[in-house]
Amino acid sequence: LLRFYSSESAAEKEDSSASSPTLITKFADLDSVGVHHALVDAITRGMKYENMTDVQTMTISPALSGKDVVAQAKTGTGKTLAFLVPIINRILDAQPQLADRRVGRTRPDDIRAIIISPTRELAEQIGLEATKLVQNTGIRVQTAVGGTQKRQSLYKMRIEGCHLLVGTPGRLHDLLSDGSSGIAAPKLEALCLDEADRMLDVGFDDELDGILKALPDRRDVPRQTLLYSATMPKNVVGLARKYINPANFEFVQTIK
Ligand code: ADP
Ligand code: MG
Repeated sequence: LLRFYSSESAAEKEDSSASSPTLITKFADLDSVGVHHALVDAITRGMKYENMTDVQTMTISPALSGKDVVAQAKTGTGKTLAFLVPIINRILDAQPQLADRRVGRTRPDDIRAIIISPTRELAEQIGLEATKLVQNTGIRVQTAVGGTQKRQSLYKMRIEGCHLLVGTPGRLHDLLSDGSSGIAAPKLEALCLDEADRMLDVGFDDELDGILKALPDRRDVPRQTLLYSATMPKNVVGLARKYINPANFEFVQTIK
C-alpha cells in the first residue's frame, strides 16, 4: 500500500561504511557528531533532556546528514524536538555567526526554515519549544497564526527578524503569497510539515499547495523537507510525494 521506502539503494545498504550513520540515543552525544554546541547546551542544560525518544533517535541522525525524512510516530512521542534539532542545526550551519547570541539586526528575507502546523495552539507550542532551543543563539523565532493581526506579525518579523517561522497553513499561505507582505523565503533551507494527517483532515490541501508554489524552487535552493504524522494514510503518502526528495529520504516508523 505505501510503496514508500528509504531511498538508500540495496548496494549502499550492503556496504556497511555507507550505511546509515550511527544512531545517537543521548542528546549530549550530538556534540560528537558536529551539532553546534549552543544547541546541545540548550537541550541538555537549559531544557534538561537527556535520553532521546525512539522517533528522535531514528530521525535526528538522518536529518542531520541532510536527508529528507518522512516519519510516523504516535502523539506524545517527542516529534517536536525530533524536527527542531536538525532544523536549528541546519540554520546554524548556513549562518554560523548566529551561534553567537549577540548577533545584530536581521532582515525579513532571512527566513531559513518554515514549520507548518495544523492549529494555532500547536504552532504556538512549537514556537515556544524552538525559542528555548535557540536561547544561546541569535536565531529569531516567529509564530504566524490566524486570529491575530496580520499587520502585527509582519511588523514583528520586520523589526525583530525571523530565521525560523512557525505557523498554520492559512496564515503562512497568506503571508507567503502576498507580494506586498515583503515576506519571502529566498534562502529557505528547511521545511517541516508537522501533524500532516491532521492538516489534511482539516482540509488544508489548497493552502499547502499554495505554500509549496510560493516557496523557491528546490532546484535553485537545496531544501530539506521533514514530514511528521501520527498516521500514514494514502493522502499523507500523496502529500509526501509532492514535498519529499525521492532521491534522498528516509522513511521512519516507530512502534511505541
Ligand atoms: P508529539 O509531537 O510526538 O505528540 P511532543 O513533541 O509534543 O510529542 O512531546 C511530548 C512531550 O514529551 C512534551 O512534553 C516534551 O517536552 C516531552 N519530551 C519530548 N522529548 C523528550 C525527551 N527526549 N525526554 C523527555 N521528555 C521529552
Ligand atoms: Mg506534535
